[in-house]
Amino acid sequence: MNMDAIDPFVHVRGASENNLRNIDVDLPRNAMVAFTGVSGSGKSSLAFGTLYAEAQRRYFESVAPYARRLLQQVGAPHVQEITGLPPAVALQQRRGAPSSRSTVGTITTLSNLLRMLYSRAGTYPPRAARLEAESFSPNTPAGACPECHGLGVVHDVAEELLVPDPSLSIREGAIAAWPGAWQGANLRSVVSGLGIDIDRPWRRLRKKDRDWLLYTDEQPSVYIEPEEDRIDYGYQGTFWSARKHVMHVLADSTSEKMRERALRFVKSVPCPECHGSGLRPEALAVTFAGRSIAEVNAMPLNEVAALLRPVARRPEADATTSTARSGETTEVAVRICGDLVARVDVLLDLGLGYLSLGRRSTTLSPGEAQRLRIATQLRSGLFGVVYVLDEPSAGLHPADAEPLLDVLERLKSAGNSLFVVEHDMDVVRRADWVVDIGPDAGEGGGRVLYSGPVAGLEKVEESATSQYLFGRAERLDHRPRTPHGWLHLSGVSRHNLHDVSVDVPLCVLTAVTGVSGSGKSTLVTQVLAEVVRGHLGLVTEDPDEARLEVDVQDASGVESFDRLVRVDQRPIGRTPRSNLATYTGMFDAVRKMYAATDEARERGYTAGRFSFNVPEGWCDTCQGEGFVAVELLFLPGTYAPCPTCQGARYNAETLEVTYRGKNIAEVLGLSVDDAAEFLSTVPAAARSLETLREVGLGYLRLGQPATELSGGEAQRIKLATELQRARRGHTLYLLDEPTAGLHPSDVALLLRQLHRLVDAGNTVVLVEHDLDTITTADWVIDLGPGGGDAGGRVVAAGPPAKVAKARRSATARYLAARLA
Ligand code: ADP
Ligand code: ADP
Ligand code: ZN
Ligand code: ZN
Repeated sequence: MNMDAIDPFVHVRGASENNLRNIDVDLPRNAMVAFTGVSGSGKSSLAFGTLYAEAQRRYFESVAPYARRLLQQVGAPHVQEITGLPPAVALQQRRGAPSSRSTVGTITTLSNLLRMLYSRAGTYPPRAARLEAESFSPNTPAGACPECHGLGVVHDVAEELLVPDPSLSIREGAIAAWPGAWQGANLRSVVSGLGIDIDRPWRRLRKKDRDWLLYTDEQPSVYIEPEEDRIDYGYQGTFWSARKHVMHVLADSTSEKMRERALRFVKSVPCPECHGSGLRPEALAVTFAGRSIAEVNAMPLNEVAALLRPVARRPEADATTSTARSGETTEVAVRICGDLVARVDVLLDLGLGYLSLGRRSTTLSPGEAQRLRIATQLRSGLFGVVYVLDEPSAGLHPADAEPLLDVLERLKSAGNSLFVVEHDMDVVRRADWVVDIGPDAGEGGGRVLYSGPVAGLEKVEESATSQYLFGRAERLDHRPRTPHGWLHLSGVSRHNLHDVSVDVPLCVLTAVTGVSGSGKSTLVTQVLAEVVRGHLGLVTEDPDEARLEVDVQDASGVESFDRLVRVDQRPIGRTPRSNLATYTGMFDAVRKMYAATDEARERGYTAGRFSFNVPEGWCDTCQGEGFVAVELLFLPGTYAPCPTCQGARYNAETLEVTYRGKNIAEVLGLSVDDAAEFLSTVPAAARSLETLREVGLGYLRLGQPATELSGGEAQRIKLATELQRARRGHTLYLLDEPTAGLHPSDVALLLRQLHRLVDAGNTVVLVEHDLDTITTADWVIDLGPGGGDAGGRVVAAGPPAKVAKARRSATARYLAARLA
């Protein structure tokens, strides 16, 4: 028997990844181990950067020995030795953008089972041929609707976009979608020639004429008389309806500008052929339990379970079984439904019963996506594995966290280990073992302050975690402010909100609370944002948002805002070419500073040269990327540092220019804390750096690529950029769970900054689960009481102390306990 089987610990020796200081630590297997510490202390460097990375490296080596040499190039984690490490699976929150075609059903693999059910046990129309399982998938040629190619949506024009101002006449340009200049004048002459009054306001034309002008496929020709100031000879003019013109441009124009303009007049609408399901008619004609697969895909999971459960429970030896060829009574139907229901039940346990299988993964919150993946793992039957998780409680209402912990417990009792990076002290208390890293971030952290059973952390003085875990931390005392007016919304309908009225107080900090799926994001990041954006006359760049229509009957009080800022967790850039320094704008100042050095002036280098995004500045081998892709056959592509510049990104000549002994690549390698000192004489940079430190990001490196930053870090960078230009204002700030990914001591820092914004006259509205944050809000709007159709109502509203007493509120109980 080998040692691993007897020794129940993973031994890490000499770990020095990123800021880790050559640490030794022993972690129990078959246990839940929580990694804690302030942000930037080194938790992820240990859990993901060392343990998971090493497990993955060993796995690659074992499956593909030939890859060894390449792997050496990629680099192993900086650690002397790890023993007793099982294979690992990482369940991170949001790394890499999900593909727009993936759905709840594909992530959980439930779609495969459901398709098999329809293929094997569906009820087919008479004489219809039996379909393969893949014919029930919109992502295969066999299943895709021929009209929309499986996308479920088609682009079409809409009257309110084609004619934004119906008080105008056609001569005044009512049909905004028509081309301008000569072509536009031509169309007006044609319309006039057809006998339609082009001087009558659009809205007073007959409906029949309006529809014809906008949508017809007919293209009559009309003889156009010579006109004094326009044309001196007559000609045949051809009519193009607005739709025909727009579609023609979209399909055939080679001008990017024209296409862009045309896109302003179209929106995505459900495909009329497949009603948005993306499936071809033959597949839609097959039913099970009276429903098409598209209907089942659109149902909330708790209804799917209710629909299939009776079939799953049918005794397999039912008398009808042997005679039926297809349908609910066959043995195969009973078996597949049993499997489906068992898997869906896990999702219901996790509080995700309000989701549907067809829901696109791009519309899921990171927490929802992670829980789906956790549930999928539970069914995978793996054991002896370590699951490395990134803050599984993020995005969860305390009421939803309990079932999640139960599921983690089940993974553990199936013989697995759980390594969890976590900030929620209620989750940490449930762990078998805690590894606290610190005491501070970056250089000031990277040490193991404690490793052992949770209770033992109490005596560790220098640990910030200990302060919060054992209730010694100072509470942020706050007396609720009085609102300076209200934003009233009534008749709000979207997703599970049906004709809801909400009052949002102005010039205070409001927390919107409620269990997962209750409607918080719908209300705050969609409806509220769109109403205010609409009032400000802004258009969104986000195509997902542009598509949605605001459904609000009445809104008042919006006029008190002159600016809207959404501080969300979306990345600050999608490529490694953007980073903290470029995003905040401070890099411009730094590059100018380098261009102003004697050395640069002698050589004639301008500020532009000090960018790794231009050929003059960049390293030719990697073109400023700093790394090169290594292709491994059969394995996901991976990256190795550039052999020429060793990751510096610049060419050697550019790096010869120094300022106070550092070249520009070295400046990008500085942490915000160090840069604050180094750049203290560069005012534009100093201001950015100061605000970054105020939100607790002093540990980040200036050149840290946008793609390496967590959602929480991206969010705080946005907030800092906002604070740096903060003026007194009438700005509405909308934040979606700003505390996700933050240690309680970082939460305290962040809250201070948010309250500063309110003190300057602004209004802040947060979607929030963290009880410490909710208790310092001036106002709470609690949605619910449940998720999906069981939610969508305002259950309670008022100062935290009042909401804590509300009946029927899932939040009240937890809030009351925290306020006690
Ligand atoms: P935590 O998980 O505790 O928030 P991390 O392990 O992510 O902390 O980071 C620890 C330190 O290592 C920080 O100073 C961070 O800036 C630095 N760091 C993180 N990722 C990298 C990287 N890829 N390269 C260099 N430094 C990094
Ligand atoms: P919360 O933010 O409180 O978790 P959401 O606002 O995300 O809740 O969701 C409220 C309800 O609306 C849920 O039933 C959810 O499934 C549904 N929903 C949210 N986004 C979408 C979407 N893009 N498409 C369809 N349904 C959605
Ligand atoms: Zn279609
Ligand atoms: Zn290079």
